[in-house]
Amino acid sequence: MLRSHTCGELRHTDVGQTVRLCGWVNTVRDHGGLIFIDLRDRYGMTQVIFDPKDSQAAWDLAQATRPEYVIRIAGVVEARPADMVNPRLATGAVEIRAREIAVLNKSLTPPFPLDDGADKVAEDTRLTYRYLDLRRPLMQRRLVTRHAVTQAVRNYLDAQRFMEVETPILTKSTPEGARDYLVPSRVMPGCFFALPQAPQQYKQLLMMAGMDRYFQIARCFRDEDLRADRQPEFTQIDLEMSFITPEDIQTLVDGLIAAAMAAAGHPAPALPLPRMTYAEAMSRYGSDKPDLRFGMAMEDLSDVFRGGGFKVFAQAIEKGGVVKAINAAGLAGAPIRQVDEWTALAKEGGLGGLAYIRVQDDGAWKSPIVKFFSDAEKTALTQRLNIRPGDLILFAADAPARVHAVLGRLRLLAGAAANAIPADAFAFTWVTDFPLFERTEEGRLQSMHHPFTAPHPDDIPLLDTTPEKVRAQAYDIVLNGVELGGGSIRIHDPEFQHRLFGLLGLPAAEIEDRFGHLIRALGYGAPPHGGLALGLDRMVMLLVGASSIRDVIAFPKTQKAVDLMMNAPAAVDDRQLRDIHIRTVAAAPAKAE
Ligand code: ASP
Repeated sequence: MLRSHTCGELRHTDVGQTVRLCGWVNTVRDHGGLIFIDLRDRYGMTQVIFDPKDSQAAWDLAQATRPEYVIRIAGVVEARPADMVNPRLATGAVEIRAREIAVLNKSLTPPFPLDDGADKVAEDTRLTYRYLDLRRPLMQRRLVTRHAVTQAVRNYLDAQRFMEVETPILTKSTPEGARDYLVPSRVMPGCFFALPQAPQQYKQLLMMAGMDRYFQIARCFRDEDLRADRQPEFTQIDLEMSFITPEDIQTLVDGLIAAAMAAAGHPAPALPLPRMTYAEAMSRYGSDKPDLRFGMAMEDLSDVFRGGGFKVFAQAIEKGGVVKAINAAGLAGAPIRQVDEWTALAKEGGLGGLAYIRVQDDGAWKSPIVKFFSDAEKTALTQRLNIRPGDLILFAADAPARVHAVLGRLRLLAGAAANAIPADAFAFTWVTDFPLFERTEEGRLQSMHHPFTAPHPDDIPLLDTTPEKVRAQAYDIVLNGVELGGGSIRIHDPEFQHRLFGLLGLPAAEIEDRFGHLIRALGYGAPPHGGLALGLDRMVMLLVGASSIRDVIAFPKTQKAVDLMMNAPAAVDDRQLRDIHIRTVAAAPAKAE
């Protein structure tokens, strides 16, 4: 055996043992004739001492090592003197007095130091040398947690009688709202596979195949525009179940989340996780992914100000709008500049302006608008918003959608400004009953989730009259203002599925071409079914406190969707292009050698 222990293993109880360790030289220090090497591997770090009195040959070799050399040492475990014990290191009670050393491989000088300081190194450099970046203990811990979470999820789902099934990567386009990655076919000139944006249709087909409960840690591919923190390929915990209600799925996923939290070393959240409807989320938080780590929820004051003395509010309500406010607690002293910025933001959002009240320390209200308020209005305001000295009250009055959008954004900004959002808290919520459709800018209906989503049974009569009012049996799970995942109950009636594609404006020929297989399959006894997918990358990112999904993916692409380490995408030779019947119109950029 090359090694008897890992670099994270030795404790005081091992003192006196002869051991062999392998690893990377983290640091080499010369201290009054003794050489100290901190030896590192995935499991930890161990201090090794070379004394010329023990072995001059070993000392000579140790002295010639450099950071990132790969070495093997043999020696005896000794207790560190009491004043040298390092409580921050798991192996900090011991050190190894080395008798032998072998250099297994040398290393060039790394382009950046492999410690936490590397977080300040340009990300492109880290990604070009990702194998070095991943040697850092921080990155190793993140990938270890990712593994632990994935493993816990697998075990949990297995215990719930889910079976893991792999679905194809070379497939046909499925609508999830992004552009497809296409792969040309060599054997069918002019035809293309699409990489899956999600295994959506396959998992539904597996329910039709009687598999009852499916899951997959599934790679998905979406060629999206460069929005913040997206990756062209990412991983979903994808699941589907037969004979199931939305509540059943939510309860099951509650347990999955608790298992993932435990695997990442966090206390279990109280179950069931909170649930709120989409309408409530929009109305109270102005967002379908509310951050519930803090309060400052919107209060509807329309009933208070209806027909009141402050005309701006009264008129907005008369026109069918609403008056809402948030209590930005503790921000009464916010600088003018800040309030001006927020007012500009409100105007950008289509509002006439932003009304506010600063509640002074003595309780007096400082605001140009309070003189228009009656005593009854003031009392109602104080109660509804729980107003106290030091608070800043922000009002918006307009159509509900605008008010929600603006106050929703201001709530997040105010929460941050007041330091009211605890960074280490985990606030989950389900958001249920999403609308089935949204309107595109051209006024067409499009699915808010995907076109396989079933409507709420009570709303089916509205499909032909006011489709935008139809609620879907769709739900999202949200953590700290981030959508972790979502899913729905699916349509299992072939005629209804056909009708829904029609409502989305698809002509019959296109329905047959794109979804004929699915509609046919629904016709052979499809069970009622539903499911959901959770973004594994995002979940792990939040669980380890990283700020980007790139930090929890071993080999991510840059924000420009390239792999800097492998140099992909790259040009291919003409022969390969001929084989797949492709002629390019754009020349590939010259290689940066
Ligand atoms: N396929 C959906 C998605 O990727 C999830 C689902 O409906 O199960 O968002």
